[in-house]
Amino acid sequence: MIKSLLVANRGEIACRIFQTCRELGIRTIAVYSDADAGLRFVREADVAIRLGPGPASESYLRADLILAAAIEHGADAIHPGYGFLSERAEFAEACIAAGIRFVGPSGAAMRKLGTKADAKALARLAEVPSVPGFEGQGRLEELQAAAVGIGYPVMLKASSGGGGRGMRIVHDPSAFADEFHLASDEALKSFGDGTMLVEKYVRNPRHVEVQFIADGHGNVATLFERECSIQRRHQKLIEEAPAAREVPWEAMREATRKLVLAAEYENAGTAEFIVDPETDAFYFLEVNARLQVEHPVTEAITGVDLVAEQIRVASGLPLSFPQRLIDGERSEIFGHAIEARIVAENPGKGFVPSLGKIRAWLTPRNPHIRVDSGFEVGDEVSRFYDSMLAKIIAHGPDRATAVHRLRAALLDLHILGVDTNAGLIIDLLADETFRSGHIHTGTLATFLETWSVPEPGPELALVAAKATQPLTTGPTTGPAIQNDQPAWSMLDGFRNARP
Ligand code: ADP
Ligand code: ADP
Ligand code: MG
Repeated sequence: MIKSLLVANRGEIACRIFQTCRELGIRTIAVYSDADAGLRFVREADVAIRLGPGPASESYLRADLILAAAIEHGADAIHPGYGFLSERAEFAEACIAAGIRFVGPSGAAMRKLGTKADAKALARLAEVPSVPGFEGQGRLEELQAAAVGIGYPVMLKASSGGGGRGMRIVHDPSAFADEFHLASDEALKSFGDGTMLVEKYVRNPRHVEVQFIADGHGNVATLFERECSIQRRHQKLIEEAPAAREVPWEAMREATRKLVLAAEYENAGTAEFIVDPETDAFYFLEVNARLQVEHPVTEAITGVDLVAEQIRVASGLPLSFPQRLIDGERSEIFGHAIEARIVAENPGKGFVPSLGKIRAWLTPRNPHIRVDSGFEVGDEVSRFYDSMLAKIIAHGPDRATAVHRLRAALLDLHILGVDTNAGLIIDLLADETFRSGHIHTGTLATFLETWSVPEPGPELALVAAKATQPLTTGPTTGPAIQNDQPAWSMLDGFRNARP
């Protein structure tokens, strides 16, 4: 069993992984950039090692420094979290070559699923339906010709894309070339790879994904689905498990098993699908070969600690949970769980990212709520990384109760110093369409057409009074940062994989 684990990541996911390590008696090693030196995950680790300056390319993406730290401090395993190096096959292989276990799939499995084009090719071999489309060599003329056959509207996608970036819908053949160049340039800038693919644009599908974890003893567990249809610009905002409405579970589970076996995949991952709400036909999108942001909702309804199981698998042990759960028998589902991603941005001002020092940080406390976060009062939300502040997860016996509890919890969440999207989510959770469960990936856009920012209530003053950081001391946030360029669009190496 692993005794000492380095987390090659930051913030909430580093805290999350350390939590399980403490339960398992595993020594924890953090690595951090200068921008993060004061954050919780650095203080919580048994050992913390500085990597370098803030930009990810000089810190969290420096595989060489991370490996050197792991060797020097006696880590016998590395957990990559999500983003950063988590889906880099060569990093997984470099760990193994250095005699360090990698808590994730093998480099070989990652390569088979690395780009969206690779993953779709594998799905074809495994006879799993994916969205009708064409990859070819990714050249403009080829894709343009293919689009005619596929039928407009089509979607252009960056093969190496992730986080909802590098996608464009093309409604008309005459716009294809322009859109292709724009998307490809953006993909090159964001992911270092401008390769595009084209596929049928499915109007208002649901996003449903299957959590799986496979061990080295022949077990392929499918821990049910998550619905992540509440998205803004193809980025997930609210996730729930099980799905908001019925899904063709047995068929989706079988498709997931086929993909896992075809990729010879060990450890945890997620197979993403879109589902046609009319016909229930589902199409494979991609595999995220890592732990996912929204894994807590699955943990809530199964009672499985996914990080603990990941560590077991990486240690060569079998999964520890019962066969019925491994087999994805739905009678094993306990209630319903729902997660909101609280992001430092201002929905009232075009969702501009909001940076600065956190002046008040009061999170809900009650037995049905889980808060995963890497921040505390006094911390700085820096421009270098993803702007997610916290994940609030509610659990209940049924969907209505879980939604209700999440909304109540968000009303008890008070963050001052940076703007957040919490008010938007509070309103959305009260929306009738949302509550009905008849949601799809267009639901949030429709909701936003009529939504307006609520006036700040009197409770704001109350929170300000409770805040442990003085609100009146001068600016501590340093020079203003121009937010015309979202932090995520910087080439910081985040991508699903390298070609
Ligand atoms: P998930 O379904 O797990 O959210 P995504 O592909 O949307 O998967 O992205 C994974 C996570 O990686 C994001 O939620 C975000 O936290 C992080 N991420 C996305 N873009 C970047 C980036 N440019 N730099 C660092 N991390 C990023
Ligand atoms: P990423 O790597 O950015 O996560 P995905 O391929 O997983 O990219 O797609 C992200 C989201 O974009 C999906 O959840 C869905 O909402 C939307 N999407 C992707 N492909 C299509 C498609 N062919 N038609 C309609 N929507 C799509
Ligand atoms: Mg995806």
